[in-house]
Amino acid sequence: MTGSHSRRDVLWTAAAGSAAAMLPMPALAQNAGGRVVVVGGGFSGATCARMLKRLDPRIAVTLVEANQTFTACPFSNEVIAGLRDIKAQQFDYKKIADDKVAVAFEPAAAVDPQARMVTLAGGTRLPYDRLVLAPGIDLRWDSLPGYTEAAAERMPHAWKAGEQTLLLRRQLDAMPDGGLVIITAPANPYRCPPGPYERASLIAYYLKTRKPKSKLIILDAKDAFSKQRLFQNAWKELYPDIIEWVSLSSGGKVTAVDAASMTVETDFAKHKAAVANIVPPQKAGRIAELAGVADRTGWCPTDPVSFESTLQPNIHVIGDACIAGAMPKSGFAANAQAKVCAAALARLVGGQKPDDPRLINTCYSVIAPGYGITVAAVYRPTNGQLVEVQGSAGTSAVDAPKTMREQEAKLADGWFKTITGEMFG
Ligand SMILES: Cc1cc2nc3c(=O)[nH]c(=O)nc-3n(C[C@H](O)[C@H](O)[C@H](O)COP(=O)(O)OP(=O)(O)OC[C@H]3O[C@@H](n4cnc5c(N)ncnc54)[C@H](O)[C@@H]3O)c2cc1C
Repeated sequence: MTGSHSRRDVLWTAAAGSAAAMLPMPALAQNAGGRVVVVGGGFSGATCARMLKRLDPRIAVTLVEANQTFTACPFSNEVIAGLRDIKAQQFDYKKIADDKVAVAFEPAAAVDPQARMVTLAGGTRLPYDRLVLAPGIDLRWDSLPGYTEAAAERMPHAWKAGEQTLLLRRQLDAMPDGGLVIITAPANPYRCPPGPYERASLIAYYLKTRKPKSKLIILDAKDAFSKQRLFQNAWKELYPDIIEWVSLSSGGKVTAVDAASMTVETDFAKHKAAVANIVPPQKAGRIAELAGVADRTGWCPTDPVSFESTLQPNIHVIGDACIAGAMPKSGFAANAQAKVCAAALARLVGGQKPDDPRLINTCYSVIAPGYGITVAAVYRPTNGQLVEVQGSAGTSAVDAPKTMREQEAKLADGWFKTITGEMFG
């Protein structure tokens, strides 16, 4: 192993069982099946690394992940509303290492596409034949005046799960009854299109049951949003005096925030919040930009069959970081893309052409305990884009009975257990 290491650098291999240990990197160069490095061990990267190793055990697969514990975003809104423990969101990489994927816990700091080399923060260099970038999102700190990393300590985004999730939870607990909660929602595209509205619903549930004199305003940079009719009908039914949604055309776009005075400004009004949850505009995780695979939008254009970057050969981008045509940025979609990418890589490394894929996405949202709604669709590559297969898309029925909503809440729970089991179990 080249380069220096901090104490946090840990590499697990199957040889070490599940014990964390500093081990020499496996002799990747000697591997006859080729070397694939995956950066990012979340919904897309963890799935891709594991699936690829299962598809072709001869491929030397290395997963590079900044954190030893993964904290999942789906269901983190329930943590914020006090309905779930954060521990139910957290997973480790022991089983992935048991599957003979080499796991390096260190941020990837640079990529040299010409030399086909990833350099980790501590200086370790990892050569690859194919690289998969799965870094998720970064927040655009330059996009909203007043919203800095320091401001996020008072006005959390909670759009990456972990400390920020717990901060928002604590703030709701501490706020007085009668206070105003503000949630800001960005323009498309961003991670989890229904996420801000699910969060508003579950925070409203918390307010209704614990602080009933309080109000919640959603300031939106859009005029329409995912599952809108279902959400708005449910709000009328469950939270009529709590949630107010302000669309773009009604002046919902936030123009500035001030963390010191807890104010959120639009062109028309200045709101003083007891709790302000700012979900700012986003872009692909920084390593994508450093690797030269992000375009001027901040996201990464890819070929929809293999998820290979259209800007840099031999680098594939999956999950929220990639531009996946009509597919939303969801954990479900990230998982589907990861499997398609793994299958394509197995064929490409073996000198074959990848198959033309079909991908499915389903986004569940929970509006209250026992009240779930869904949107789903199938996608396929058409003229270099992932497009929705005609007639494949649909949402829960608007007039579905209560039992159906209960059933959908159960399905959401089942989906989370299945997908995280597939990744980490
Ligand atoms: C509040 C909320 C609710 C959501 N609910 C749902 C839901 O119900 N259903 C659903 O399908 N989706 C949901 N999502 C969306 C889902 O979380 C994302 O779409 C999904 O996590 C994307 O997967 P990913 O692999 O692209 O990124 P992530 O899962 O975020 O994984 C990225 C990983 O890369 C690592 N990383 C980044 N840069 C580096 C680097 N340089 N070196 C090493 N490691 C790096 C990070 O540490 C992270 O572990 C929700 C999101 C939010 C915010």
